[in-house]
Amino acid sequence: MNTLVIGAGICGLTAARILKDAGYNVVVVDKGRGIGGRMATRRTGDAVFDHGAQFVTARTEWFNAVLAECQRNDHADIWYGGTEDDTHTRWRGTHGMTSIPKHLSEGLDVRTSTQVTSVSFRDALWHVECSEGHAFTANACILTAPVPQALTLLDAGGVALSIDDRRALENLTYERCFAVMATLAHPLSVHLERPLAPAAPSPIALISDNYAKGISPVPCLTIHSTPEFALHYWENDRAETLTMLVAATHDVLQCDIIDASIHGWKFSRPERQHSAPCLAPADLPGLVVAGDAFGGPRIEGAALSGKAAADHILMR
Ligand SMILES: Cc1cc2nc3c(=O)[nH]c(=O)nc-3n(C[C@H](O)[C@H](O)[C@H](O)COP(=O)(O)OP(=O)(O)OC[C@H]3O[C@@H](n4cnc5c(N)ncnc54)[C@H](O)[C@@H]3O)c2cc1C
Repeated sequence: MNTLVIGAGICGLTAARILKDAGYNVVVVDKGRGIGGRMATRRTGDAVFDHGAQFVTARTEWFNAVLAECQRNDHADIWYGGTEDDTHTRWRGTHGMTSIPKHLSEGLDVRTSTQVTSVSFRDALWHVECSEGHAFTANACILTAPVPQALTLLDAGGVALSIDDRRALENLTYERCFAVMATLAHPLSVHLERPLAPAAPSPIALISDNYAKGISPVPCLTIHSTPEFALHYWENDRAETLTMLVAATHDVLQCDIIDASIHGWKFSRPERQHSAPCLAPADLPGLVVAGDAFGGPRIEGAALSGKAAADHILMR
C-alpha cells in the first residue's frame, strides 16, 4: 500500500508517521525548502525567528503524549503558562518551532522543494504531478495544503468532487497575517517572558522576543500583524507595510531595530472549521483532505486531523 502525503506541516507529518509505523510505504512531498509549514523557524545572520506559530498547546491526552515524547528527545519544552489562571501550557520547539516537525519527520521519506501541480485519479490510482517533471503514483493520497491550494490541485487534475464536498471546501477561508522579523541593537529593557499583545487599536496582534524565548543567540523580535491589517494592506507595497509595522512596534517598545524583513502568510489560520476531522469523499477512494481547517485552527488541530486521515487509510 503506497500513500503519498502532500505537505510536510504538522498534519502531513503526523499522518505519515502513523502510517509508516503501521508498515505502510509513505512518501511526503513539500514545495518548501524545509519542513514544518506554518511551524516555521528562519535564520537571518545570527538571529533566529519563529515567524509562524509561536507556541503549541495540547488539549488532548494523545497530543500531550506527542509533546512529552518530543520533550524526552530534547525537541520541545515548556515555555510558559499552565498555571491555574492560564490553563494551557505553552510549549516551544527547543531550537525554534521547526524542532517539533523535524523530530516527527525522522526516518520518513520527505522530499522538499517538490511542488505538486496537479492531483488526478485514474485506474483506481492517484497520480500526482510535480514541477520539474517529478510524478508519483499511489493507492492513497493525503492532501494537507491549505484548502484553497488543495482545491486548485484537485481542479488541475480534473478530480470531480460532489457538489456538497466542493461547497464545504470552498467555505473554508483563512485569515492573513504579516510577520516582521526584526533584529535589535540591544536586548529589550523589559523582559518579555511571553508574547505581548498591544492594546487596541494597533496594527499589531503580538510581539514575541525570540532572545528571551531562548531560541536566538542575538536579540530579535517576531511581530505579527492583526488579520484585519493584513487583509487591508495585502496588495500594498511590502516595504511601506514593513515601515508601518516597525513604527508601530517602536511606539510600544521604544526598541532599536537595526534590520527588518517581512513575510506575508496568505493562509494563516482558518476562519471556519469543517464539521469532520478530515474529508474522505466516498466516491474517491484513497483521497483524504486534511489540515487545521478540519481539526481546529491551531497546531494540535492540524495534528489531530493528520491522525484522523491516517486512521481513515488504516481502516480501508
Ligand atoms: C503567523 C501564524 C501564527 C500562528 N500561531 C500559532 C500558535 O501560536 N499556536 C498554534 O497552535 N497555531 C498557530 N498558528 C496556526 C498553526 O501554525 C497551523 O494551524 C498549523 O501549523 C497548520 O498545520 P498544517 O500541517 O495543517 O498546515 P501547514 O503547516 O500549512 O502545512 C501545509 C504544507 O503544505 C505545503 N504545500 C502547499 N501547497 C503545496 C504544493 N502544491 N506542493 C507541495 N507542498 C505544498 C506547504 O509548503 C506546507 O508545508 C499560526 C499560524 C500562523 C501563520
